[in-house]
Parts: sequence; C-alpha cells; structure tokens
Amino acid sequence: MKEKLIEILVCPTSKSSLKLVVEKREGDDVIEGALVCSVCNHAFGINEGVPNLLPWDGCTGS
Ligand SMILES: [Zn+2]
Repeated sequence: MKEKLIEILVCPTSKSSLKLVVEKREGDDVIEGALVCSVCNHAFGINEGVPNLLPWDGCTGS
C-alpha cells in the first residue's frame, strides 16, 4: 500500500486514525508492516502490500 494511505485509513471498528509500522518498503510502497490502532490497541497486518483492515471481535473502543 502507498505510505500516504495512512492519512485516510481509519480503524474499521473505532474509526480512529492508525499508526503505520513499516517492516519492509519499496519506495513509497509499504510491503510488510502493520497499522496500529491506539484506541483498540490492535495491530492490522500489511502483507504483500495489502492492509488487512477487517473488524475483529474484542474491540474495547466505542
Ligand atoms: Zn480501533
């Protein structure tokens, strides 16, 4: 995913902004990493450039 996407992506559960953690990048593309929601304390994985922003059970945000 493009690194700039972090500006428009939000947590699907709490709708709060996310923090980008990059493990592997190619230019401005993030290949491997995570999107972290500080409200839910949940990390969404980024695998092969695709962010996995699925809601999950157990969110403590409102
Ligand atoms: Zn959240």
